[in-house]
Order: sequence, then C-alpha cells, then structure tokens
Amino acid sequence: MQAFDYQTPTCVADALRALGAEDARLLAGGQSLLPSMKLGLAAPSALVDIGGIAELQGICVDGGSVVIGAAATHAAVASSAEVQRSIPALADLAGRIGDRQVRHRGTLGGSLAHNDPAACYPAAVLGLGATVHTDRRKIGADDFFLGVYTTALEEGELITAVSFPVPEHAGWQKFKQPASRFALVGVFVAKGPAGVRVAVTGGGGGVFRASELEARLALDWSAAALAGATVPADMLNSDLHASAEYRAALIPVLAARAVG
Ligand code: FAD
Repeated sequence: MQAFDYQTPTCVADALRALGAEDARLLAGGQSLLPSMKLGLAAPSALVDIGGIAELQGICVDGGSVVIGAAATHAAVASSAEVQRSIPALADLAGRIGDRQVRHRGTLGGSLAHNDPAACYPAAVLGLGATVHTDRRKIGADDFFLGVYTTALEEGELITAVSFPVPEHAGWQKFKQPASRFALVGVFVAKGPAGVRVAVTGGGGGVFRASELEARLALDWSAAALAGATVPADMLNSDLHASAEYRAALIPVLAARAVG
C-alpha cells in the first residue's frame, strides 16, 4: 500500500474541501476501499474519513419516509427501532450483510457508492424506489446505479443520506455465497408509493428490476402469483459459484419467499 494523507473532518463542508485535493477519496467503513488499496487497485493520495461526521449518522422518520444518514453503519440500521418498525425488510437486509465486524464498520453510503454487483443495499434502494441525497442534488434509484461498480455520482460528490419511502409490504431474500456472504442472488420486493417493484442483486452486471415478476405482483400481491414465472438467463452471470440458469431459477423462488 502506498503512503497517503489521512484527514478527519467533523462536518460535510470540511470533508468536501479536503476531497478537493488531487486523488483524494472518501473513507467510510473502509470495508471495500481498504482491500482495494491493499490489492493495489486504488492508490489515493489522501483519505477523507467521514466516520466522525455526526450529521451523516442519523436515522429518522420524516413524513412517509425513513431517512438514513450515509455514514450509518449496517449494524446501526439493523438495530434501529425506526427502521424495524417502518421497513422491517430493510433492517433484516442490513442485519444479514457480511459478518459482525463488517456490519459495525461498513456504511450505507459506502455500499451504494461502491455498487458491488452482488451488494445487498442496492436491491433495497432500487426495490423501494428510494432517493439518494448528495451534497449537491437528489438522485432517484432508477437513475443511480449505472452498472458494475458504477453509479451516477460525479467526481467529488458525497452521499449525505438516503430516503426510503415506507411501503405497504416489503420483503428481502438473499441466497448467500457462503464464503463471502455476498448475494449469489438477492431479491427485494416492495409494494408502496413507488409502485410494485422487484429488484435483483448478485445475478448480473449490477442491480436490476425484474419486470415480469413486477407485472404479476402488480395484479396479485401473493407468492402464488409468481408460480411458473421465469427470468431470462442470458442477462445473468455464470461463474464458479453458479451458472446463469441456476441464478435465473433462483430469482422467482426468492421473490415468492420475499412476498411471504
Ligand atoms: P468504504 O470501503 O469506506 O468506501 C467504499 C467506496 O465508497 C469508496 O470509493 C469511497 O470513497 C466511497 N464512499 C464511501 N462513503 C461515501 C459517501 N458517503 N459518498 C460518496 N462516496 C462514498 N456487502 C453487502 O452488501 N453484502 C454482504 O454480504 C457483504 N459481505 C461482506 C463481507 C466481507 C468480508 C467484506 C469485507 C465486505 C462485505 N460487504 C458486503 C461490503 C460491505 O457492505 C461494505 O461495507 C461496503 O461495500 C462499503 O462500505 P464502506 O462504508 O466500508 O465503504
């Protein structure tokens, strides 16, 4: 790992100033960035640690939405009474990310900015039709995820919070890859202000919506409505863990379980 500066701003304005340095990167939980640096895949000149910024930590219910600060850890989301009461599927998702250490360091904002194609949070953000708030704008879920490790974030843009509309129904199912605990396939289903949505992670080149499953659930919100539903395998990944066909078969099964 090469040498770098380390900054610990205490407010967003100071973090953005520090981020202005050439090749500076935000550091949240470090659960994705530090392994990348150790592997030589990233070599920032400075790390701007946002873990001490109180304004990025909060979790509250505002109108019909749960608003979660970008630096809230997975453990904080999983144990939040507000999240458990308003969107239990989101608390469940956060509580099953990685292991205890990952959950106590990793953050919502870091997970979304990193946008690993098998990450859990992107499925909840897309499935619930959430809005990503940054230091300069609000980005709807459908416009945020652009592909493998790619998002709509611009250079130097900082996620401050995410607002999740409270749904009537929502559910999450993850078929985990037991070594990494990432999703071999994960499916988030929701019926709420953003309509009926089914978001799939781990299957392909980034999180996506499963339109046939959405159409069936829009007519009949029940597990039975998904009987016989299919997802094309040609848009999914094959790797040493599972074939594209296996992933395709999992998606409707997990969606039906998530509907309950
Ligand atoms: P960091 O590693 O600190 O940063 C990641 C990237 O996001 C960096 O580019 C950074 O500059 C940028 N960034 C951070 N915060 C912001 C912000 N507020 N605004 C803009 N950019 C920002 N994830 C899952 O979803 N499911 C799993 O099951 C899972 N299992 C894991 C198992 C292991 C062993 C490990 C090590 C990780 C696992 N993860 C899993 C990933 C984990 O959830 C990470 O927490 C997450 O990917 C990154 O969050 P972080 O806060 O650690 O971000």
